[in-house]
Amino acid sequence: MNKLIKAASMIGLPLVLLVLAYMAYHNVQALSAPQLDLVKLAPYPVFVIGGGLAWKFNRSREFFLLLMFTLSAVSLQYLPKLPGTGSPIARPDLYLILSIVLPLNILLFSLLKERGVFSLWGCIRIGGIAAEAAAAVWLLLPEQSGVLERLSKDLLPVNLPGQTPLPQVSVFLFVIAWILLLVKQIRRRSSQDTACMAVLAGMLYVLNMNYDPVAYALLWVVSGIILVASIIQDSYAMAFTDELTGLPSRRALKQDMMKLGMNYAIAMLDIDHFKKFNDTYGHDTGDEVLRLVASIVKEVSGGGKAFRYGGEEFSILFPGKSTQDTIPHLEELRERVAKRGFAIRGSGRGGSKAKQRSKARSAKAAKTIYITISIGIAQKNEKYKKPDAVMKAADTALYRAKKKGRNCVSK
Ligand code: GH3
Ligand code: MG
Ligand code: MG
Repeated sequence: MNKLIKAASMIGLPLVLLVLAYMAYHNVQALSAPQLDLVKLAPYPVFVIGGGLAWKFNRSREFFLLLMFTLSAVSLQYLPKLPGTGSPIARPDLYLILSIVLPLNILLFSLLKERGVFSLWGCIRIGGIAAEAAAAVWLLLPEQSGVLERLSKDLLPVNLPGQTPLPQVSVFLFVIAWILLLVKQIRRRSSQDTACMAVLAGMLYVLNMNYDPVAYALLWVVSGIILVASIIQDSYAMAFTDELTGLPSRRALKQDMMKLGMNYAIAMLDIDHFKKFNDTYGHDTGDEVLRLVASIVKEVSGGGKAFRYGGEEFSILFPGKSTQDTIPHLEELRERVAKRGFAIRGSGRGGSKAKQRSKARSAKAAKTIYITISIGIAQKNEKYKKPDAVMKAADTALYRAKKKGRNCVSK
């Protein structure tokens, strides 16, 4: 259910923005000529702000796409019209180039790894964009019209459904880019890919309408906003999610603690003898165990919400619950962790990574080890009136659980 809400929120915003742009386009025609001129300039502040944000947040895909969009918008707006083409499109040559370059770049930048904006890799990408711009200028020379004509030729002897002014190669690039992003999206949800899918959809729609400067201006504006929104969405998620375990982080815990009402219980969990485990099997295996324990803790029943408190410690908030209410659920959780074996591949730490890997392959699941956790629980009452005090009491209870011999729940 949570995943569904997350997916919906990821798709929801770009979708709403596209619909708003569509509605704006159908109302914008009522504006006066000077107002329309302002609309045509609207993309540039969005590009500048978006580019600055993308740079600050180290998001090169968005930065370079915004750079591409800026070059495209400027050329569409300021390149003088071709005389006597008889086409409804002001610059059929530029239109053709952009209809190929835009989906191609979204496709390429979606495949490339994040390597920073002004790093060596970033500079290579800037060089690539400059080369594309130079190639576009060359193609726009009247002598090169033959090359463009060849590009606009059909690749396959099929009629694309509906009358589209787009050349087949552009339609194929759009389809390939969309499928690639969809596959990436299914494998690993990312608001970056959702944003690019939405931008592609909007772009295909506008390019399909031939050439209307106002439609392009609105497309650039929403595309810029969609990319910026994805940067903000990801940064927000990063700030409140623990990277290693995927659980909400301590910052999220602090916020949720402020929202607790009149009655609640707080549990503190700690993995037993984890230092020894790290010393024996190495830090990487320790991290894997942490992830496994977190995935079990996340599924706690009884209305609890789990957080990574820090290190090998977790907290669970039980809004509206008493200590007594939570104990059966915590006992069940403790038991589930204790019974869940963890397969250790290879043995011991040390050795090179390759050595460890080959060892892992040959000694498949050589050993299964069992991890236990200790839990302390406390509730809000006359003595502990504030969430911080309740948490401290839960920590003291956890200490008691450790003293009792670990692998138990104490209140
Ligand atoms: P106890 O049963 O008393 O809790 O013993 P312990 O060894 O678990 O307790 P201690 O607090 O002394 O050690 C916690 C260890 O957890 C220290 C550190 O090596 C390990 N640890 C903390 N955070 C991480 C992490 O992110 N990854 C890994 N692999 N280990 C971590
Ligand atoms: Mg600890
Ligand atoms: Mg511990």
